[in-house]
Amino acid sequence: MKKDIIDQYKETKENLNLVSDSFCLAKWFQVTLHLQNGQNHSCHHPNTHQATMEELKATPSALHNTKFKKIMRKMMLNGVRPKECEYCWKIEDTPGEHYSDRHVKSNDDWAKPYFDEAIKAGDTENINPKYLEVSFSNSCNFKCSYCLPHISSSWMKELKQFGNYPTHSVHHNYPIEEKIPITDSTANPYVKIFWEWWPSLYKDLRVLRVTGGEPLMVPDTFKILDYVIENPNKDLSLAINTNLGVDPKFVEKAVEKINKIQNAGHLNDITIFTSLDTWGKQAEYIRHGLDLVLFKKNLIHLLEKAPKVRVSFMCTYNILSVANFREFLEFILELKNNYKIANDPFNSRIILDISYLKDPHFMCANLAEAELLERMKSDLNFMKAHSVKNKTAGQMGFDDYELNKMERLVGFASLGVQENFKLLQLLDLYKFFNEHDRRRGTNFQDIFPEYQPMWNFGKMLAESEKQI
Ligand code: SF4
Repeated sequence: MKKDIIDQYKETKENLNLVSDSFCLAKWFQVTLHLQNGQNHSCHHPNTHQATMEELKATPSALHNTKFKKIMRKMMLNGVRPKECEYCWKIEDTPGEHYSDRHVKSNDDWAKPYFDEAIKAGDTENINPKYLEVSFSNSCNFKCSYCLPHISSSWMKELKQFGNYPTHSVHHNYPIEEKIPITDSTANPYVKIFWEWWPSLYKDLRVLRVTGGEPLMVPDTFKILDYVIENPNKDLSLAINTNLGVDPKFVEKAVEKINKIQNAGHLNDITIFTSLDTWGKQAEYIRHGLDLVLFKKNLIHLLEKAPKVRVSFMCTYNILSVANFREFLEFILELKNNYKIANDPFNSRIILDISYLKDPHFMCANLAEAELLERMKSDLNFMKAHSVKNKTAGQMGFDDYELNKMERLVGFASLGVQENFKLLQLLDLYKFFNEHDRRRGTNFQDIFPEYQPMWNFGKMLAESEKQI
């Protein structure tokens, strides 16, 4: 019998720790390539770093196997925690038994079976990733409040027009030179090198995830789909990120190609990843550009017309998610029940994946005061009450994986932050959203009345800062 997921995490943790308690398979097998500027990271949590042209001349696989990453691998093999992986160390250092992404990712099907391959490659050999996330361009019609200018062309445009935000945080600042995106993907050397590597890379992939920017606005995404139509890879799971806020014609074009691939059985499965951090006008505020009417139209088209596709909701849980999160959970539950997997009444096509936002700090959930924290705990209890285990046959609920993510989020938020650090974050929260409202014609106080005490406090700090 297949082990319970939590038992699997436990076993994977023990196996990893036999090598070292900082060893993580994601450093070998998972990569996100930002081809718009030649940066990459393994996994997606650490900051990105550059693949140099000198390295890339030797091998296109240096898009992933950079000299820098090999140093991180060496540290992990020797039991040293790379600082860039602090996302996991924070979870692992939280009191109690928690499973970090080091355990969760290393337990995945694209990592666990290849344990020995990573050991064999060590810290010197080049290795093809099994899980590739690739961004061809930063073209995007959204300006989400936690996003970065080199990830979204709309953010770049705003910064060019208005300059940087007046915050202490430099998170949203105009990018440093090496991160400035190449806007014309046809003249982008990193895209060209990627397509040279692609035939050798493709055969080893178990998960391919196309991200952006907004991938459905980029021709290379459709080039990938066309390649898969011609070249089956039955071990591969394909994922495409989309904000589902694009012109419906792009969703229709993707659905048509996806159906061709799935009807021919060319891939293992296809999942569409979309993002929502809460529901209603609060969600539209956090993800600037989101129109929930258009979002739902595109979502329903996808679910109805591509019946074999699964849809995963990426929730970047931040302090502003709290206010209306229950409504979002109810929406997810309804979808889970409406869209079950064909011939499998016990599983839904809808997945909820909650991760906690770590940057910018002024939007982190660990700034939550008692009242907001209580709401988070109550939402966790709501999820538990609607877990699959508490449902009668045929009814969908939240599964262990989804509950574990929410549980660890509440654990993280409950730790809070040091008082001085918190003051600085409340100051930045006010400064950022005050400027956001001025530039974008929005109104934070109307949308988030529950946050008035935080807003007032930040405003007071900003006024006293002016007087110094
Ligand atoms: S230790 Fe954590 S942050 Fe680092 S690569 Fe592994 S999963 Fe990612």
